[in-house]
This record gives sequence, structure tokens and C-alpha cells, in this order.
Amino acid sequence: MSDPAASVLQLTPRASGFARRGQPWFYADDVAKGAGSPPRLVRVHDADGRDLGLGCTGMGKLVLRLCGPWPGDGVPDRETFFEKRLRAAIDARQGRLGPDDGVRLVHGEGDWLPGLVVDRYGPVLVLQATSMVVEQALDAIVPFLAKALGAECVLARHDVAARKHDGLVQEVRLLHGKRLEAATFVEHGVRHTVHPFTGHKTGFYLDQRPARALVRELAEGRAALDLFCYQGGFALNALAGGASRVDAVDQSEPALQLAAAAAQANGLTGLTTHAANVFDFVRAAREAARTYGLIVLDPPAFAKSRREIEGAERGYRDLNRQALRLLAPGGFLLTCTCSHHMTLPRFEEVVRQAAAGLPFRVVLRQRLGAGPDHPTPITHPESEYLKVLLLQRLGDA
Ligand code: SAH
Repeated sequence: MSDPAASVLQLTPRASGFARRGQPWFYADDVAKGAGSPPRLVRVHDADGRDLGLGCTGMGKLVLRLCGPWPGDGVPDRETFFEKRLRAAIDARQGRLGPDDGVRLVHGEGDWLPGLVVDRYGPVLVLQATSMVVEQALDAIVPFLAKALGAECVLARHDVAARKHDGLVQEVRLLHGKRLEAATFVEHGVRHTVHPFTGHKTGFYLDQRPARALVRELAEGRAALDLFCYQGGFALNALAGGASRVDAVDQSEPALQLAAAAAQANGLTGLTTHAANVFDFVRAAREAARTYGLIVLDPPAFAKSRREIEGAERGYRDLNRQALRLLAPGGFLLTCTCSHHMTLPRFEEVVRQAAAGLPFRVVLRQRLGAGPDHPTPITHPESEYLKVLLLQRLGDA
């Protein structure tokens, strides 16, 4: 570090208060001294000169994200920083790193690695770098991870909008090893096939692991409906848990083909896939007076921004109401939102409105979220995006 002063960034008194309360994100007005640009690792001080550990600066509105305590008072080189944080993230997931496991290995802020997500599917590692600091450190991150985990294929799923803030290009590319178009992993005894270069997100929704376990537990003897099923993560678990049959609905034909292939590969029978708009499907099901003992409702994020929240709330309310009406007495509805802007209290209110006035009682049985491999700092509610509620229609008197 030739000029130590250049590596120190000082927060304003107001922002120092936020930092003391654990808030990790800061904007241009929060910085008293030491600009965000160019993006780099910095030492962060509060307004009284007290050390707040390291931070990572950026070019978008978010000029600083904290990345945790660090010994001494300087800034480490990027190899040292990333290797230490990655090692800690790997250590935190011991027991989930077998050759057949699927796990989120790095979850941004939750691992004090803002701007980085890494998912592992057996021999494949999928990275998403959404900050310039992480992008510039890929030359250190990729070889370290490939070696530590014995990965055969490491790729970048850099086709995410968040990269625009730091002026990074959208791309999907191989970073290390050989191009594996498909990888498999086993979860709750079910083998899932992931297409890391072309699938949604990094290929699979690893975050729903706890909810998939719950579906498996509840399914015995029930007719199940998996709405917005993608490649059937929930449907397969319902079948493995003893569901009498499962209707799986998605508008994507390729996703449904993967669901059907996965059912066959796992020796699970009773799956019927429906290529349809969920809104049309539930209306038709109601008209036909069909009911289900277990329904999963896991739509894409309806609200991508704060401005879209009102329309999104209407969508969630209507869908939840329709789904509740398809429940048989005693039936369960597992309802989800993965929208950051839909907070838990807001989501519960929408579901409450959906249930109001129905001619049967609906009770809330459980609240769930993403699994422990998606750590969410309690002081940073913005990073808590997935909310899942288990509701039950009580049996008729
Ligand atoms: N439940 C899935 C993830 C759902 S992702 C899992 O656990 O893996 C959202 C899915 O909704 C996508 O597969 C997308 O193709 C589908 N989708 C989005 N809008 C839809 C609509 N109106 N009707 C049917 N499917 C839709």
C-alpha cells in the first residue's frame, strides 16, 4: 500500500450510527472522506476514527459495502482477503460438501463477501460476481475454489442485472476446467439434474431446501399440485414423500421435460406435467371442482422494484386466494415469495386478505425461509428475500 490514506474511508456521523447497528450498505452522502471510486478494498473508519473493519467500494448508488473485521489497521492484498473469507465460507458448510451434494457455498453479505455468490452442484461451481472488486479478484478466487473443492468445471453466470451498477458486462462463460452442460446432486434422497450454463439463476433454487423437506414430510397419501414448478423440485419431493399423484404446472416446456425426466430417473411415478399459465390452470381447476391435499405456490418475483409492489400484491393476493380455494379440507398450502420488496409482514397481510371471507378456516402452521447455507445477517433485512408460509385449511366441522 503506497498511500495508506487512499485506503481509508471515513463515514459521516449519521452513517456511523447505522454502521454501529450492523447496517452494511452505504451511499455517497454517507461518506465523509475517501471516495468510493475506483472500486477497491478499503479500511473503514467511523466519524470518530474508530475502526469498522474492511469495506468494498463500488461505482453504483451503493458506494460502500462492509466486509467485516480484519486484523491490524491496513488493507490486505486481494488474494489474502478472498482466500481467508472463502476458507471461512467453506468451513461453515462442512458436512454439505460431499461429491453428491448441492449447496450455496458463498452468500454475499452473509459470508462477508458482498458482490459474490457461489453455488456448488457436485463437481460444478457456479459464480456470480456483481461488483468490480470481486470481478477483479476472479483471478485469485477461481483457482482457490477450484483447488479447495476439486471442481471439474467453474463457470460464471454473469447474466444478472445487478452487474450493471459497476459497469460489468452480461455474460455466461467457462472460467476453469471443462464445460459440463449438466451436473447432478442429491438432496433429501432425490437426485436433481442441473444445467448450470442455461438453467434459471445458477441452475437450481437451492434456497428452497427446507421447504422441499417439509413438502416431503407432508405429502403421504395426498394429491399434490406444484404451481410454477420449474424442473419439479417440489413435485419430486412430494412423490418421494408418498403423494398419491402430482400435477406440476409451468409455462416452460423445457423445464417440464426436465421434471418428467427427473421423476423417471428417480423411479418416481404419478407425475403429470401441464404446460400452462398458472392463472389459467387454477381457474380451470376450480371450474372443474378439483381439489388437492397439498399445494405449493412458488411464483417468480412479481415485484422487481419498489414501484411494482402494488400490482405485485394484487397478483399474490389473487393467486393465493385461488390456491386456497383448491384445497381439500385438511389440505396444506405452502406459499412463497422471493421478492425482496415483499417483506414478511407485508406478505402475511396479503395472504390474510386472500384467506378473508373464505367459507373455511385457514391457519398458519409454519414460517420458513432459505436454508442455513444462505446466511442472512439479522441487521440486514434487505438480504432476506425468500419467505415461505405453510397454511392449512382446517377440516370441515
Ligand atoms: N418452484 C420452483 C421455482 C419456480 S421459479 C422450484 O422450486 O424449483 C418460477 C417458475 O415460474 C419458472 O419456471 C417460470 O417458467 C414459471 N412461470 C413464470 N410465470 C408463469 C406463469 N404465468 N405461468 C406458469 N409458469 C410461470
